[in-house]
Amino acid sequence: MKSNRQRRAEIKAKRGLRAMKLQSRLKPRARLGERPLGAVPADHGELSHNNTYGLLPDYYVDRRFICRDCGATETWAAQQQKWWYEVAKGHIDSFAVRCRTCRQRIRKQKMAQKRHMEAMAARPQHPNAAFFRRRMRLSSG
Ligand SMILES: [Zn+2]
Repeated sequence: MKSNRQRRAEIKAKRGLRAMKLQSRLKPRARLGERPLGAVPADHGELSHNNTYGLLPDYYVDRRFICRDCGATETWAAQQQKWWYEVAKGHIDSFAVRCRTCRQRIRKQKMAQKRHMEAMAARPQHPNAAFFRRRMRLSSG
């Protein structure tokens, strides 16, 4: 039979071990309080838009991810992360999902759609447009 004091010490040791394991899983090459090579320090003042009880990062490191659309492996550079979180005010839980090529493709599609919508809006109306508008109003009301 163990004493309460022994039991408490065991629990404390176990908790410490678990915290260390968690820490090493989150930042494989960084121990508590250390900053890995190439890390960009974070400015907590610029991160204050995050309404969270979660911990804010002390620094950013390059992170690799797989593109959601094409499956390519891309690196999200620490400097780009700093810009995203601190200048563009992205939420701290947001993360890069698409590679540069896929983002450019989507941006091009959106711009083409916007141009098309503007062209449609600028097009002269049908001579009977007022008549059809009136009919729509009557049928919906
Ligand atoms: Zn991609």
